[in-house]
Amino acid sequence: MSHNPIRPWRDIARRTSRQIMVGNVPVGGDAPITVQTMTNTLTTDVKATVEQVQRAAGAGADIVRISTPDEASTRALRQIVAESPVPIVADIHFHYRRAIEAAEAGAACLRINPGNIGDAKRVAEVVRAAKDHNCSIRIGVNAGSLERHLLEKYGEPCPDAMVESGLDHIKLLQDNDFHEFKISCKASDVFLAAAAYQQLAEATDAPIHLGITEAGGLVAGTVKSAIGLGNLLWSGIGDTIRVSLSADPVEEVKVGYEILKSLGLRTRGVQIISCPTCARQGFDVIKTVETLEKRLEHIKTPMSLSIIGCVVNGPGEALMTDFGFTGGGAGAGMVYVAGRQSHKMTNDQMIDHIVELVEGRAAELEAAKEAAE
Ligand code: SF4
Repeated sequence: MSHNPIRPWRDIARRTSRQIMVGNVPVGGDAPITVQTMTNTLTTDVKATVEQVQRAAGAGADIVRISTPDEASTRALRQIVAESPVPIVADIHFHYRRAIEAAEAGAACLRINPGNIGDAKRVAEVVRAAKDHNCSIRIGVNAGSLERHLLEKYGEPCPDAMVESGLDHIKLLQDNDFHEFKISCKASDVFLAAAAYQQLAEATDAPIHLGITEAGGLVAGTVKSAIGLGNLLWSGIGDTIRVSLSADPVEEVKVGYEILKSLGLRTRGVQIISCPTCARQGFDVIKTVETLEKRLEHIKTPMSLSIIGCVVNGPGEALMTDFGFTGGGAGAGMVYVAGRQSHKMTNDQMIDHIVELVEGRAAELEAAKEAAE
């Protein structure tokens, strides 16, 4: 990230990593940190899977992963890839044939641990298929499925065991002259995951895929992921992220973006700053924010909006946002534009008015961007 001379306390110095391609999406180096999710439909149900991929992509997913546990799934993958707006990662566990079939079906990346698929000949065959089909590979180390010999050596899943596992897999790829790989080192325990990722970041220059695995439901998993991933991203580690929630994949994408947006690492859509509300609120802030979130979901242009219940914090927050509304008295409040007090608006017309302002600004900015290209 470039140095910000005005606000150096906002700088995050990203770890320098190699860049690889996942289809047409760069991962690592100076590429934006990408957001991933994974489908939970049956892969053989092409229609449902494509629909889910499209919804996730619509919410901003840059890359989507799909499980391909059997031959019928890798067969379905071909059609899914053809209809997907984003690169697809095929998730393979032990069967090397599935990896070859997925590469042939057009997967942009294979999530596979080369040490788990059998002898050197099989690894070489998978690497050959990946090379032939411009497929990258993600090594996915998981504290819950470490190799037996490492568990025996270390006694339990620990950062040293996880990093050793990752480096062993890396070596197998490098021995086959394959370098288009990224790596993850996930655990459901935030301390274990963070320590493993920190060690891994020192031990390799490969792009790092971050995740706290099996993080939990929407609220608990979001908090856990924000703490685990936030800590690593803040220290500059991480080139692509997946938030794992027992929830709709679209929610994973939204949470992923919110984590990146909170750290200023990625911008997308409208970021709403709103107060927690109290007896001073001049309008129903919670309901208004809920409605605005839905009505502004389609906006991709980065923009900020403050929705604040009263003048205690409203004008101050509005100073730092593109648009703002602060509750006043007598059923009306103040609209702020680019940090400045602009005009009064009644509470009952405010939502439509704000939506119009944001949509108008988004259209202007998009037109200017197109003209510049
Ligand atoms: Fe209460 Fe006003 Fe603070 Fe909102 S901004 S929580 S309404 S004091």
